[in-house]
Amino acid sequence: QPTDLTGLPDGVPEHLAEQGIEELYPPQAEAVEKGVTDGESLVASVPTASGKTLIAELAMLAAIERGGKALYIVPLRALAGEKAREFEQFERYGLSVGVSTGNYQSDGERLANNDLIVATSEKVDSLVRNGARWVDDLACVVADEVHLVDDAHRGPTLEVTLAKLRARVPDLQTVALSATVGNADELAAWLDAELVDSDWRPIDLRTGVHYGQALHLDDGTTRELPVERGEAQTAAIVRDTLQDDGSTLVFVNSRRNAEGAAKRLATVVAKELTSGQRAELAEVAEEIRADSDTETAETLASAVERGAAFHHAGLSRTQRELVEEAFRDRLVRTVCATPTLAAGVNTPARRVVVRDWQRYDGDSGGMKPLDVLEVHQMFGRAGRPGLDPYGEAVLVTDDHDGLEALFDRYIYADPEPVRSKLAAEPALRTHVLATVATRFATTREELLEFLDGTLYAEQTDETGRLEQVTDDVLAYLDANEFIERDDGLRATETGELVSRLYVDPMSAAEIIHGLREADAETTPLGFYHLVSRTPDMYELYLRSGDREKYTELLYERETEIPGSTPSEFSEGEFEDWLSALKTAALMEDWTEELDEDRIAERYGVGPGDIRGKTETAEWLLGAAERLAGELDLDCTTAVRDARKRVDYGVREELLDLAGVRGVGRKRARRLYRAGIEDRSGLRNAEKPVVLGALRGRRKTAESVLAAAGHPDPEMDDVAADPDAAP
Ligand code: ADP
Repeated sequence: QPTDLTGLPDGVPEHLAEQGIEELYPPQAEAVEKGVTDGESLVASVPTASGKTLIAELAMLAAIERGGKALYIVPLRALAGEKAREFEQFERYGLSVGVSTGNYQSDGERLANNDLIVATSEKVDSLVRNGARWVDDLACVVADEVHLVDDAHRGPTLEVTLAKLRARVPDLQTVALSATVGNADELAAWLDAELVDSDWRPIDLRTGVHYGQALHLDDGTTRELPVERGEAQTAAIVRDTLQDDGSTLVFVNSRRNAEGAAKRLATVVAKELTSGQRAELAEVAEEIRADSDTETAETLASAVERGAAFHHAGLSRTQRELVEEAFRDRLVRTVCATPTLAAGVNTPARRVVVRDWQRYDGDSGGMKPLDVLEVHQMFGRAGRPGLDPYGEAVLVTDDHDGLEALFDRYIYADPEPVRSKLAAEPALRTHVLATVATRFATTREELLEFLDGTLYAEQTDETGRLEQVTDDVLAYLDANEFIERDDGLRATETGELVSRLYVDPMSAAEIIHGLREADAETTPLGFYHLVSRTPDMYELYLRSGDREKYTELLYERETEIPGSTPSEFSEGEFEDWLSALKTAALMEDWTEELDEDRIAERYGVGPGDIRGKTETAEWLLGAAERLAGELDLDCTTAVRDARKRVDYGVREELLDLAGVRGVGRKRARRLYRAGIEDRSGLRNAEKPVVLGALRGRRKTAESVLAAAGHPDPEMDDVAADPDAAP
């Protein structure tokens, strides 16, 4: 019973009861028995939607009650805000919640005033590198979705961050939440933690495969589920679920497939809607359109009008929230989602269909089956406790042999064990430099001792392997003058800066090399290319025809790019050079004020990708600017201008104007056309001119004028029709 809970702020049990939490679920009770509210470390390996969050909340509340701080590490930046808002309910106990997103270096000390902090592992890592002192006050750290240490790109940072916090803060309570994995015991051994390893679920889950005209279930039974002529299997399942008044969540492997499936399934759902439901859905669709006027928003809104939706990382936060809410309210009856939805967001459905169990793999260029772990996490979204009699999760196949194969691969299979990816060189490169730069390790022995506290060390049988890679990495860092190895280990000034800037040392080496080669002929395109060819910028793939196109562009503009073009005979390198040029060309179009729609079309990317790329470029150019300054290079100013142009997405002449708060690239151009050329022009502008340029938007005009320091920004005295004004 929650009333048996001790060590928590007064009133917590009553507060939980108000939210329908009358008693603890068995895994939660086990966690409490094992001491999670008394500061014991714990690994909770429990199925999705079985109440892991509450385990973490109890641990954090108790830790704060004991007088320490709590840190909650989220797997995705997009989840940080959501989690923080969820935890704000506890502010009634006088504690404060802070969230750290945004740029890598900012807001370190602001967080010091919060009791509960939510951040990604990259952010925590960066704050530690930049000397955040509040870290020493931590009593409890929670790692959400800790099985992601297995992820080749982001896993090592989570792993090292946990190891570092634990080495730095004695007796730090570590609570690691994990999906059910094959080796939770190893995670517990690594973290010196108690273990709750359970497959208990609050609601029954039936799993199976749809083949032919029937659902084949894991208990050996078969249930008829006929597919009409010309109908897809998924559509038949959605129709069947609707007849039982249930909702369906469909997992597919790409954004485009999510949109396509939602469009098609909307026709199935639309047939079952009442006029009242239609009216409510129309309202949701209007809110989606009001949020943005992109093509994605329009596609989403028109599916929502008919009771279906899609959900993927290309949606804005508002759009995602509207979809999730409408699905929980049972207005939208089908959501087609990419796997991002399986992580974190609480949107259960009667039925889950995993339509695509393979996805495109950039490394191999082919299709790759999903992990059992991932599919089980998607399965876990089936069934709403207290609302559905049970949940049902199914795969689909149209091939008789596939039926048995899918049962073996996903239904009867156990999830994979989690394996550390730390020994990969890029990961070690950056973390070894940081460990040395922060003086966390001052000798090779100390470094190895620290690395011994990682999951990698816990798991590896190969003695000497970690030592070998570490020595290779040290040699690399030394050769690039990021560290010195005379007596002990010490970062050079450049090395320290690289670590604080949070760039991969290999990116930094490439940038420094390029900056040294920059000359009077180097243009912004050249700097965009320089940062686009580093490992910190994810690549734009070359599509058919691109090779010829960008080879031509390369030879046309070669002198603008610092560094030397690799030989066409070294296949891989030349290819990388070209795809960096494609990225640089995108950046150039952006800074030439091309419309986002046009850019999206020209490069085959979504609006979210354009933002992602320009943000990354801006960050890397910022790092380049700092490095150029540190090394006293002539190109510092040129790099700064290139950075600002990417930041604002404007031509040179608008840099000043676009920097005024609330102006941005489009409005800056309109103001400029109206004869207002810079900040001081705006400060002294005629109000009707400004209002006209801003298409009569008074509120915007007022705030823009105020931001520019106009003595009297009020628009009350300006005539309604700006054209008619004197
Ligand atoms: P997980 O983090 O394991 O995926 P959540 O923590 O999101 O799962 O829990 C899923 C849902 O179950 C939430 O809506 C939560 O409020 C509810 N819940 C958690 N614990 C209990 C409980 N003891 N009794 C009733 N509902 C609970």
